Amino acid sequence: MDQSARTATVEVVVGEADGVIPDGTSVSVYADVPAVRGLDRDLLKALRRAARAAALHGIGLRINGGWRSPARQLRLLENAIERLGSREEAARWVATPETSAHVAGQAVDVGPVAAAAWLAEHGTRYGLCRVYRNEPWHFELRPEAARYGNPPLYANPSEDPRHRRGERHTAADTSAIAADA
Ligand SMILES: [Zn+2]
Repeated sequence: MDQSARTATVEVVVGEADGVIPDGTSVSVYADVPAVRGLDRDLLKALRRAARAAALHGIGLRINGGWRSPARQLRLLENAIERLGSREEAARWVATPETSAHVAGQAVDVGPVAAAAWLAEHGTRYGLCRVYRNEPWHFELRPEAARYGNPPLYANPSEDPRHRRGERHTAADTSAIAADA
């Protein structure tokens, strides 16, 4: 199927069941909501261990984004295309429903900023790694990181082989947007 097929013409209502955590809000790593329930069990276990350690340092580590339904991811992508003006620019920030680690339950966005910074410094102990330079809040589980450290970061999601479609993206940096890969 042509991945660039137009998909934005049907308005789909997405809500909490799709993993939505409203902008400007966050949930506990123990929250009983689809965004948390849909996460990979090992990822969630590692995140809870890290959150307990962070709490000992006075850092409240919370979840701004977790599992998302394909419909939710598509909505984020459409919003990014509208906001950034092109599919190519949007690809620097938001993955497709087919390629997003969030849809697979294998990525989590943490907050607030201090908690993301704490996790960037201490997360590898729990196998929690940053993946993209432009997304300091986005973490995925790499169990081998406890031994080998955080793998090199991609500049942005469009550099990630999991997301590639054989295109090069050369556009200048854009300001950060709320949605991500
Ligand atoms: Zn993310």
